[in-house]
Amino acid sequence: MRRPLRFAFLLLTLAGMACAPPGAVPSTSPAGPFLRIIGTNDFHGALEPRADSVGVQLGGGAHVAAAIRAAAAECAPRCEVLLLDGGDMFQGTPASNTAYGKPVVELFNELGYAAAALGNHEFDWGIDTLRARMRDARYNILGANVRYADGRDVEWIPNDTIVARGRARIGIIGLSTQQTPTTTRPQNVAHLRFVDPAPVVDAHARSLRARGATHVVVVGHVGGWCAATCDGEVFDLARALTEPVDAIVSGHSHTLIDATVKGIPVVQARSRGQSIEVVDLPLDGSGPARGEVRPVLTARITPDPAAAAIVARWTARVAGEFSRPVATLAERLSRAGAQHSLGNLIADAQRAAAGTDVAVMNSGGIRADLDSGVVTYGELFEVQPFDNTLVRVTMRGSDLRGYLAQIVARGRPNAHVSGASIAYSRDSAGAGRIDTVRVAGAPIDDSASYTVAINDFMAAGGDGLGPPAAASVEALPIIDRNALRDYVMRLPQPVEAPRTLRIWLAGQAAP
Ligand SMILES: [Zn+2]
Repeated sequence: MRRPLRFAFLLLTLAGMACAPPGAVPSTSPAGPFLRIIGTNDFHGALEPRADSVGVQLGGGAHVAAAIRAAAAECAPRCEVLLLDGGDMFQGTPASNTAYGKPVVELFNELGYAAAALGNHEFDWGIDTLRARMRDARYNILGANVRYADGRDVEWIPNDTIVARGRARIGIIGLSTQQTPTTTRPQNVAHLRFVDPAPVVDAHARSLRARGATHVVVVGHVGGWCAATCDGEVFDLARALTEPVDAIVSGHSHTLIDATVKGIPVVQARSRGQSIEVVDLPLDGSGPARGEVRPVLTARITPDPAAAAIVARWTARVAGEFSRPVATLAERLSRAGAQHSLGNLIADAQRAAAGTDVAVMNSGGIRADLDSGVVTYGELFEVQPFDNTLVRVTMRGSDLRGYLAQIVARGRPNAHVSGASIAYSRDSAGAGRIDTVRVAGAPIDDSASYTVAINDFMAAGGDGLGPPAAASVEALPIIDRNALRDYVMRLPQPVEAPRTLRIWLAGQAAP
């Protein structure tokens, strides 16, 4: 699996370079005046560059800034520029999280963003913190499809905005994913509803035009993916629209999207500043918009000095605490595939820390890969950035069987386990069901009592992995990443993460 993926990225990287030599206007840019939309998404506090799976450094706040400014400069004075972000700006690194996203707002203010989408992780630190960041931002953070439970619009979340660019008036509509209730701390958004975005966009597009907008652009924290076809929330949205929309800048799925649906360019630039997207929209009505996603190849870019100063100041604050080495890894631990050794290692750490029979770790909560060699506490922080705490759940064997079945219910495991092994199969509709399950090597005894370690996000229903109603739940004073730190520190060095498949499709590669 790995080699084709790497190869695809290399090709993609080369393709991106080929169509966008620095300092040149792409030959496919419109002949007349045009609006250049430059976009980022899912920045996740990534102030510093990161190596990809083949060791290529990508992103970094100062490098993303330079790439954005180069993309803006290369078409001046023929283009007007609109800078947008598709949401999930703050969550994910020590420098950003310890300051609750302030460094990212400062960076985005410096770059002159026009608007951002309200991502699910914008809610991670509660409403008060989000509102404080909204006050700091000199750009609107928009969520037009967010409502109170009774259907009223949420007065402190702006829906849309109109910005002037030359003679154009660009109406911008922002969206949040309908998955928000299960992809941030559920209690933070329990009073909110995230409604179907398509009718919302249609209504706001009409309203924006009535208020003088000449163009309408959507910036949505709504994801998707493209293989043989393009699917997911953002494509459902694009296909359902009845009002004209000029472009959709998306986010949330961390995918590379460069597609066109019903004539609307739909783009997404992976995540963490690995890429930026550029959409050129003719302002004189001379033809369709065209989009492009460009990699941010750190080594080829001179960092932007103003952005570099912001990055340096905020990363220096956390250097002491988070640069401490905690272990040495025998090999790189990546998150490729539905089951991986990094997930097994984390589940083992949580079972050991909680002293339970079984541990279940939601795979969506594993946020970064780990490189081989020395690992710092800061790198573990990026793997588990949420400050989730562990929870010990006690349940009957019959309930445990049902609980574990939730992991494979969607036909593909969405969690890792420790202390259990599960063979599952899929029905003709693609839903998964458990064929056999063993705990500590033995079949589950329906009448026995079992303990299961999960995290407080799951305990609140996150990722659809809330505990059974009849279970007893005990909160533990253990932060998940510290369980991992303590566990890897105790293991023989270099650490070998457990590769054995613990959840597998029946009939395939049983362990
Ligand atoms: Zn998201």
